[in-house]
Amino acid sequence: MASIGVDINLAKDHLEKGELVAVPTETVYGLAGNALNADAVARIFETKKRPSFDPLILHTDTIEKVRQFVVDIPEPLNILAETFWPGPLTLLLPRKKIIPDLVTSGLDTVAVRVPSHNLIRSLLSILDFPLAAPSANPFGYISPTRASHVNDQLGDQIPYILDGGDCEVGLESTIVGLEGDQVTVYRLGGLDIQSLEEVVGSVQVMAHSSSNPKSPGMLKSHYAPTKPFILGNLNDLINDYKEAGVEFAVLAYDQVFPNISSQFQIQLSPNGDSKEAAKNLFAAMRTLDSLDVSVILSELLPDHGLGRAVNDRLKRAAASN
Ligand code: AMP
Ligand code: MG
Repeated sequence: MASIGVDINLAKDHLEKGELVAVPTETVYGLAGNALNADAVARIFETKKRPSFDPLILHTDTIEKVRQFVVDIPEPLNILAETFWPGPLTLLLPRKKIIPDLVTSGLDTVAVRVPSHNLIRSLLSILDFPLAAPSANPFGYISPTRASHVNDQLGDQIPYILDGGDCEVGLESTIVGLEGDQVTVYRLGGLDIQSLEEVVGSVQVMAHSSSNPKSPGMLKSHYAPTKPFILGNLNDLINDYKEAGVEFAVLAYDQVFPNISSQFQIQLSPNGDSKEAAKNLFAAMRTLDSLDVSVILSELLPDHGLGRAVNDRLKRAAASN
């Protein structure tokens, strides 16, 4: 298993040798390597069993550093960067050649983010290279939101996990770019649409493609537990599965089901707060996935604020059935 700790100098030593380190961010834990070292980047794809057509996000700690890796930050993306960095926003920007092709899967844009979590910021500030970091989980599975999640699945393949506690946002970043002049969201995530629109006016969302995705976080089936994951009206589903004699667990938004034992149900947010639901979503999916049941039953949230991004993940989890 990997060692787990908060030693950014040790993390730096590993990264300088081309090794991978798992890092906390406010969204989810990342599997990080030196983005300018093609061998380290190749190791990220190998470790995750990630297809090479699925490009990585570059992480660094200041807008000034971002400018070293991109040709330009066109308006109005620049306003979004100034407003929301550091934070759960990824921008697709025209890349410079210094970024290895493997990072961008050969695309002429690179995805860049300035994260806000203190520990990764301290690490980035002592590195003289940016980090390429996808979520630290096997490709297609649920993203990790605490160090133990990473250790469970990738611990035997990496030397070190920086432990930053539970991720505050708990959902991947919102990915934004331009289609012509139109600000476009390619992946719903931890920064909600309304916050973007308050700054740049109306945005278009292109996050539901399932074939030949421009952005593979768009793949229809993704973020999936290993158990069948069924969405619908929970009261109806519970009746049906009880009648059929199938063992199930329940992932609810806020309602409690008094007739089901508490270990077989999780409320994402007892007070009906979509932010809290987002923060709890992936850990809850993992917990239920580990129970001795045949199926997980769940429901959608009200489709606004972060509820929209949570619903996106719930639908993708259900799409793998
Ligand atoms: P992950 O780091 O696992 O959350 O995934 C990163 C996601 O960012 C990928 O799955 C893509 O959807 C998206 N992405 C990264 N780079 C690009 C790019 N140059 N163009 C479009 N999408 C990108
Ligand atoms: Mg991922």
